Amino acid sequence: MGKFEYAPAPESRAIVSLRESYGLFIDGEFAPGVDGRAFKTISPATEEVLAEVTEAGPADVDRAVTAARKAYEHTWAVMPGTARAKYLFRIARIVQEKARELAVLESLDNGKPIRESRDVDIPLVAAHFFYYAGWADKLEYAGYGQAPRPLGVAGQVIPWNFPLLMLAWKIAPALACGNTVVLKPAETTPLTALAFAEICQQADLPPGVVNIVTGAGETGRALVTHPGIDKVAFTGSTEVGKEIARACAPTRKKLTLELGGKAANIVFEDAPIDQAVEGIVNGIFFNQGHVCCAGSRLLVQESVQDEVLAALRRRLATLRLGDPLDKNTDVGAINSAAQLAKIRELSDVGEAEGAQRWSPPCELPVKGFWFPPTLFTGVSQAHRIAREEIFGPVLSVLTFRTPAEAVEKANNTPYGLSAGVWTDKGSLILWMASRLRAGVVWANTFNKFDPASPFGGYKESGYGREGGRHGLEAYLDV
Ligand code: NDP
Repeated sequence: MGKFEYAPAPESRAIVSLRESYGLFIDGEFAPGVDGRAFKTISPATEEVLAEVTEAGPADVDRAVTAARKAYEHTWAVMPGTARAKYLFRIARIVQEKARELAVLESLDNGKPIRESRDVDIPLVAAHFFYYAGWADKLEYAGYGQAPRPLGVAGQVIPWNFPLLMLAWKIAPALACGNTVVLKPAETTPLTALAFAEICQQADLPPGVVNIVTGAGETGRALVTHPGIDKVAFTGSTEVGKEIARACAPTRKKLTLELGGKAANIVFEDAPIDQAVEGIVNGIFFNQGHVCCAGSRLLVQESVQDEVLAALRRRLATLRLGDPLDKNTDVGAINSAAQLAKIRELSDVGEAEGAQRWSPPCELPVKGFWFPPTLFTGVSQAHRIAREEIFGPVLSVLTFRTPAEAVEKANNTPYGLSAGVWTDKGSLILWMASRLRAGVVWANTFNKFDPASPFGGYKESGYGREGGRHGLEAYLDV
């Protein structure tokens, strides 16, 4: 059956008003950097320059940490939880009011489809602030003692795959617990963090409670190694996470790390196949596979392999790749040229190591960074595409015969962030979940997030939990 033709349905870009250049957000104000350095942020879909952004150096990071310390000591930590809650509620409401604008901005800067930024990222951002607003005056009931104390100033470094959502995961619990923050967004996606700074101004958040320093890896390094930081929270690659762990080890800083993943999405022969195929697609092609918990390894029971693969190929042929601002788009742009090069390299290695590569017929735009949805079959556990995080729209398919074999293969990875199990049998789900070494196990669904639910990893996927009551622990002196 041929796919329906859709008329273009672009979201309006005009609802976003971008400044030509952005300063750093320190002590409640936008300010230029000390040494005047700047970089450009581009749209990965068109390579168009969107804005110029200040690159914070060590002196700027120091100013931000000083502002955060002052706000911590004189304002935020001494404020009653009920008052902090009001600010968090206010931020959540403004995020909701600006949802359309924020979604367009996120899709412009990141390349993700507007359908996802509009229906997933931004609603979850608001939900996180609402959820942690609820905790701000109830911390003594969270199970961490009768009068849990905040830690102080948090230095937070986030990646480019869910820019505003990762900001919310970091800032909402930190503020609810009475900490102040200095946050560094990723170099390729700073714009929604800067829009968030404007939201803080609009919410009348006291100056210095939230500070945003833009820049590249060096800025992140200056932040996490700053002696005035009490807590470091990082989401990103395992490699940088290890470096940060080494830097924090000789200090008193508390550290949480949310790193890479190579999740198994396990489909048993009794699973509802059509539903499972939707889950496989959502697991690896959502956000172009730029998802730490992506279901990048499909483990399918041998008896249904042919059926599942045929259905999956049919489904992939219907995915629409292109303009992230088009409401019909399923697969957007790869976030950067560097990430595209990495996806290409690992996919070429997959072929060279003997796996069979398949993509549906798919026309890629000439400008920008694009990679088609891709399947690899004939993958063995030793292949690099079965072991390394590709962080792109590339699925490696392996097979198994028994539940025990599925568990062994799923756990055969240095990571342990998430897993999925598809079966009709509740008992099998529980049997599998108790054996899978993964922080989150989804049953008959995948990539579902909720602010009330903790998220985090085992092994090289990091430590500490974000979200839910557990997420408070990372920001309390317990
Ligand atoms: P990084 O880990 O380099 O980036 C994450 C954040 O850390 C960014 O803000 C980055 O700044 C910053 N950073 C980089 N170096 C340092 C440092 N030494 N000290 C402190 N902060 C630092 O990820 P990449 O963007 O380079 O992506 C590389 C790979 O990492 C991807 O291909 C993917 O496999 C994985 N990844 C995993 C993510 C996850 O959620 N688990 C998220 C992103 C990437 P800057 O943006 O300027 O580099």
